[in-house]
Amino acid sequence: MTSVDSSKHKKAKALKPGSRRPAKELCSECGLCDTYYIHYVKEACAFINQQIDTLEQQTHTRSRNLENPDEIYFGVHQDMMAARKKQPVPGAQWTGIVSTIAIEMLNRGIVEGVVCVQNTKEDRFGPMPIIARTPEEILAAKVNKPTLSPNLSILEQVEKSGLKRLLAIGVGCQIQALRAVEKQLGLEKLYVLGTPCVDNVSREGLQKFLETTSKSPDTVVHYEFMQDFRVHFKHEDGSIEKVPFFGLKTNKLKDVFAPSCMSCFDYVNSLADLVVGYMGAPFGWQWIVVRNEKGQQMLDLVTDQLETQPVMSKGDRKAAVQQSIPAYDKGITLPMWAAQLMGVVIEKIGPKGLEYARFSIDSHFTRNYLYVKRNHPEKLEAHVPEFAKRIVGQYQLPES
Ligand code: FAD
Ligand code: SF4
Repeated sequence: MTSVDSSKHKKAKALKPGSRRPAKELCSECGLCDTYYIHYVKEACAFINQQIDTLEQQTHTRSRNLENPDEIYFGVHQDMMAARKKQPVPGAQWTGIVSTIAIEMLNRGIVEGVVCVQNTKEDRFGPMPIIARTPEEILAAKVNKPTLSPNLSILEQVEKSGLKRLLAIGVGCQIQALRAVEKQLGLEKLYVLGTPCVDNVSREGLQKFLETTSKSPDTVVHYEFMQDFRVHFKHEDGSIEKVPFFGLKTNKLKDVFAPSCMSCFDYVNSLADLVVGYMGAPFGWQWIVVRNEKGQQMLDLVTDQLETQPVMSKGDRKAAVQQSIPAYDKGITLPMWAAQLMGVVIEKIGPKGLEYARFSIDSHFTRNYLYVKRNHPEKLEAHVPEFAKRIVGQYQLPES
């Protein structure tokens, strides 16, 4: 990448906190508009100008091959595997692969700073993006803040601090905007470590989700929608509460997810160099997608700390996805005993590994396609990427 004299890039006045954003209700609060890079918002915003294939070209030198059954789902990649840390990082979301890679990048001087998200003093789930300069600051950002997080709000600080080599950790919408302004940042090297992301919520939405779903909302320290078709809530005392997906009160939760996340088709973070999630891996393992050489370079830093195994795929998701479409649409909630039973059966015979990841992608893309069609029909054609149209096209959707 050629370095650009960033003092020459165009600037505009950042918006005040709380003011309406250019993407209006679809804004995911990625943080770009909190900085003078708002000048580029019309090109850069993932919800105003979806341009995944152009940015795939820019980042990985090619866009995904739509004829390749793995690439259409998981994006451009050169390797995929399941992995877990031999010694997990205590308190991390999974085994702490993300935090460990970031620390190695800093300790070895490959980067001078890491964009990550700590929490505010008052609220364990309140996002506070920072540029970490020490391993301690990276560790303090471990575990998901399951709310919209304005990670890009620190972009002005990157330029002002004169950083030249940066690692950014983030989710798809943040990374799309970051890639679109990458050349304006004056960096010599940018590494991007992404996580998949789906069904995110505002801080108020998170409270509603916790109160509707958990028996003890105030003591939840961590939660995840797991491959065993249950939400696992971890509480302060270390206990785990499991609630089956099929028992979620979908009628009450329908408007809890942010409109941005109901219109997102970049679940797998297509523009990161390396993606670390869990959904394509067996239970208890993390799922690694290496998109390009920079991604491989990052992963190489920690391979001696990991156990790995090849990805696997088992089962057939299609019938379950097709049945979930009208069930979600009508807000059907099963009684808890039936939901528990269904969870047990599906766990035994349901999709596993990459097929589980496809199940989750298909269910969310069909739901989101319907959401955009009903709420923003004028955006449907340009906003839904071709790969997502093909994925959705495998299913029968309600007419209206
Ligand atoms: P850790 O070492 O604990 O580090 C977590 C990192 O995430 C930290 O560096 C922190 O800066 C960053 N982070 C935390 N919250 C946010 C945020 N709101 N926005 C941006 N960055 C953040 N994986 C799947 O496979 N399927 C999913 O459906 C899925 N949904 C997710 C939804 C959200 C909102 C998030 C943030 C992540 C999601 N993930 C999903 C990724 C997964 O939950 C783990 O984050 C990932 O596997 C890394 O685990 P770890 O133990 O290595 O991370
Ligand atoms: Fe601005 Fe980001 Fe919101 Fe788009 S999603 S309007 S770029 S803050």
